[in-house]
Amino acid sequence: MATHETRMLIIGSGPAGLSAAIYGARAGMKPIVVQGLQPGGQLTITTDVENYPGFRDVIQGPWLMQEMQAQAEHVGTRMLWDTIVDIDLSGSPFTATGDSGDIYIGDTLVIATGAQAKWLGAPGEQEWSGKGVSACATCDGFFYRGKKVVVIGGGNTAVEEALYLTNHSQDVTLIHRRDSLRAERILQDRLFAHSNIKVLWNKAIDHFAGEDGKGLTHLDLVDTVTGARSQEAADGAFVAIGHAPATELFKGKLALDDSGYIVVTPGTPKTAIPGVFACGDVMDHTYRQAVTAAGTGCMAALDAERFLAERDFEIAQAAE
Ligand code: NDP
Repeated sequence: MATHETRMLIIGSGPAGLSAAIYGARAGMKPIVVQGLQPGGQLTITTDVENYPGFRDVIQGPWLMQEMQAQAEHVGTRMLWDTIVDIDLSGSPFTATGDSGDIYIGDTLVIATGAQAKWLGAPGEQEWSGKGVSACATCDGFFYRGKKVVVIGGGNTAVEEALYLTNHSQDVTLIHRRDSLRAERILQDRLFAHSNIKVLWNKAIDHFAGEDGKGLTHLDLVDTVTGARSQEAADGAFVAIGHAPATELFKGKLALDDSGYIVVTPGTPKTAIPGVFACGDVMDHTYRQAVTAAGTGCMAALDAERFLAERDFEIAQAAE
């Protein structure tokens, strides 16, 4: 068991956490990043990335995260492999306990634990993941230019993804388990008005099917009212049934919204506790992009630095 102390403790090692680390390290805060169960975050389970600025050619998600980590380490970040299981947010310095038994003490805390797309759990879903099945149309829609795609879900995300996919495909089908959507009316109006989108009501996914070398080919559906079975051909299927932020650790300690995301002062990564910042998908259910996560990670580091500068100034003044 060891105790690790730092000016900036970062929990999570996706684009948000690593961007905070790069900025924090360059500001001399000697950050520690506790990597968590999925080092590198959601990008490590994607393949091609074409929308991260700076790369003209297709890059791989895991490679991008390795590079970000190497950059963070190069400028002075310590990466530690542990999972935080308990945290004390009663005041700076903040104390976190790792699964290993190690203790982490940070003058500031940056929460970058991210979110996970929810999956249906239907047979074939994971097998064809990355080969036709995706949870992000903005990330992967481009790969289905001119092909037939389906979106599963009935909330804002599903409807936005269906509309987005019409940029690439003339054959988009929304599949929903009930006979009405929960998406906002304005989005529904746009969806129903779009000639390239059809909606299949009352359909649950029985399984995803594909062929080796070809990828996903179709979905087997069950009507949730009649029980009738049917098939829907698809080259791409986007599961859009919501995301779950990784905020279990912070329940009762930080304000969370109805969907479990950390509440921050709008336009900033500041939580209600001075010195505690949240960045990336754990506080953002709207944009959820690697580049926006990196942006808010940078903001968290800048605000952490300001917090410490102000505190150090006050301490110095009090000592005079
Ligand atoms: P939601 O929880 O709002 O919607 C999830 C959808 O998936 C629901 O229609 C639900 O069906 C369906 N679903 C859930 N589980 C299953 C399952 N096992 N099988 C089949 N269907 C399932 O999630 P969203 O990601 O759409 O939105 C999350 C939050 O983010 C919301 O508050 C939303 O308003 C917000 N958001 C806002 C945006 C904006 O303002 N532009 C954009 C995107 C999201 P059912 O309806 O039957 O429960």
